[in-house]
Parts: sequence; C-alpha cells; structure tokens
Amino acid sequence: MAEKKYIVQYDRIGCIGAAACVASLPEAWEMDEEGKAILKGGNGKGDEIFELEITEEELEKHMDAAKACPVIVIHIINKETGEKLI
Ligand code: SF4
Repeated sequence: MAEKKYIVQYDRIGCIGAAACVASLPEAWEMDEEGKAILKGGNGKGDEIFELEITEEELEKHMDAAKACPVIVIHIINKETGEKLI
C-alpha cells in the first residue's frame, strides 16, 4: 500500500454547507442532516476537526475539493514537512 504522505484536515465548525466539496469529490465528502459536510473515513479530534490521511496519488483530487470550499475549511498538510498546501 502506498505511503500516506498528506493529511486532509477539515474544520467542521466553519462549514457553511455549500456542498462544493461533495460535488467535487463525492467519494470523500457527504452532507449530514445538519447540513454540514462529513469527511468520509476521517478521524475526529473532538467533534470539530477531522483528519484523513491520503497518498500522493490521491492528493490532486483532494486538493481540487479543498480549493472548491468557499470558506476554506478544508486544509491539506504534508505530514513530513508540516507544510500547509491549502
Ligand atoms: S465546500 Fe466547505 S463549506 Fe461547503 S460543505 Fe464542503 S466543507 Fe462545508
């Protein structure tokens, strides 16, 4: 299995329910009954920040979904360097 080099980090508090992430990448995002996004397979830190580890191959599609979010509550971090790509 490919090494998971990046972390998708989702700040649920700031989500306004625009669903652009779901439209961009439905395999990773869905809407819940509160009208906020859920990061599928994400681990919660409390119930505010959710994280999902992804591989290099998965990076581009997750970047596209993160960029689609109008309030920029989806971030992507390089695990090794700590660099925030978005
Ligand atoms: S695009 Fe951003 S604001 Fe819209 S549902 Fe997804 S995370 Fe929430």
